[in-house]
Amino acid sequence: MMARSSAEFQERRESALPRGIACAFPICAERAQGAEIWDTEGRRYIDFIGGMGALAVGHSHPKVVDAVNTQLQRFTHTFFGSIPYDGYVQLAERLNAIAPFPPPAKTLLVTTGAEAVENAIKIARFHSGRRGVVVFRGGFHGRTLLTLAMTSQLDPYKRGFGPFPTDVYHAPFPSAYRGPSADEALQALRDLFETQIEPDQVAAMVIEPIQGEAGFLPAPREFILGLRALCDAHGIVLIADEVQSGFARTGLVFAIEHSGVEPDLVALGKSFGGGLPIAAVVGRAAIMDAVPSGGLGGTYAGNPLGCAAALAALDVLEEENLAARSVEIGERLTNGFRSLKLGTSFPIIGEVRGLGAMIGIELVDDAMCQRPATALTARLVEDAAMHGLLLASAGRAHNVIRVLAPLTVSNGIIDEALAIFDDSLTRVAACLP
Ligand code: PMP
Repeated sequence: MMARSSAEFQERRESALPRGIACAFPICAERAQGAEIWDTEGRRYIDFIGGMGALAVGHSHPKVVDAVNTQLQRFTHTFFGSIPYDGYVQLAERLNAIAPFPPPAKTLLVTTGAEAVENAIKIARFHSGRRGVVVFRGGFHGRTLLTLAMTSQLDPYKRGFGPFPTDVYHAPFPSAYRGPSADEALQALRDLFETQIEPDQVAAMVIEPIQGEAGFLPAPREFILGLRALCDAHGIVLIADEVQSGFARTGLVFAIEHSGVEPDLVALGKSFGGGLPIAAVVGRAAIMDAVPSGGLGGTYAGNPLGCAAALAALDVLEEENLAARSVEIGERLTNGFRSLKLGTSFPIIGEVRGLGAMIGIELVDDAMCQRPATALTARLVEDAAMHGLLLASAGRAHNVIRVLAPLTVSNGIIDEALAIFDDSLTRVAACLP
């Protein structure tokens, strides 16, 4: 039965679902198109969450809908390991051709971002015969137990869920706004190799070229160059987790391309599936081929509907030139955020930062000591939703608004969203003690 009233829906949701599943907004989705979504009470929202970054091509892109519909009529599932199909191979060929490292590349398809990251680690371990995994503070890599061990945020992700798999080492991630510098972070990594784990025991380093959940923190180029040099010196596999930053979100197909560094493996998910659950590991063939037959896979891994959607999404990426559009969106958002009414008169905006359309705005209570404006950010998200704009926060203190709008969003909708944002921020700031 479809709930008509949001209140009734919330009641049913609470009694049927465990508390652990969060619900940011008390609404129930009815339909969505592009960057807009309507609830069951007929209210329209601008969607700047975009399926948590999974909808670069927008809700229900007609090309994706058509491709999935066509595949639905043919067959929905076989289990690729027993009965293969062409969509999987086609998608692998497409991804291999755009991989951000020299050919030959090979691709493994899975279902979720966490699964892609886990498989990248499995492949790196098999290839190197080593156990250690180095990750960076603030990083988010998923909610399965290995990827939780790699994620460095206690609440709400890790607390109470341990013990976690061992041999995962957390090193500092540089931040231009809060520190450390790229040099300091590289030094910390060298210290880690002297005090925690010998580099010749490290299978992989996993980096988000721009940290997502941590609040849209781009890794400085010299830091990624430093990682590549350390990996080369010690035979470590460099894995780029592009689950959130990939698929042109940052203005280039892969965010790591901004640094000029070529990774060994890339984990992809979210937007590359065009809104369907499909994810991938794209890697240098020699590393990908280390695992013997049967060592990789999964029942729904590379599901035919997901392959059809991802192939259509890749067409949209090219035909609609989403990478260039991402840059335009980023400039419009950055200019908009920097010229907010409050921006100049009130020290609430700590930093506007990001790459391409992956723009975040960090809100602080006190610009001098950079104290995170956690409560204000929560009120802002709530107020904006009440006025028709859906936003997601990020950052360890949940004080960064991150924009994950579809890259197909129009300028008109961006401007409308910026106006709602400005009014909401003005309203919630006026209520500050
Ligand atoms: N890596 C990164 C960088 C992510 O942002 C996420 C999801 N937020 C994941 C991995 C996990 O993806 P999924 O939720 O599809 O498992």
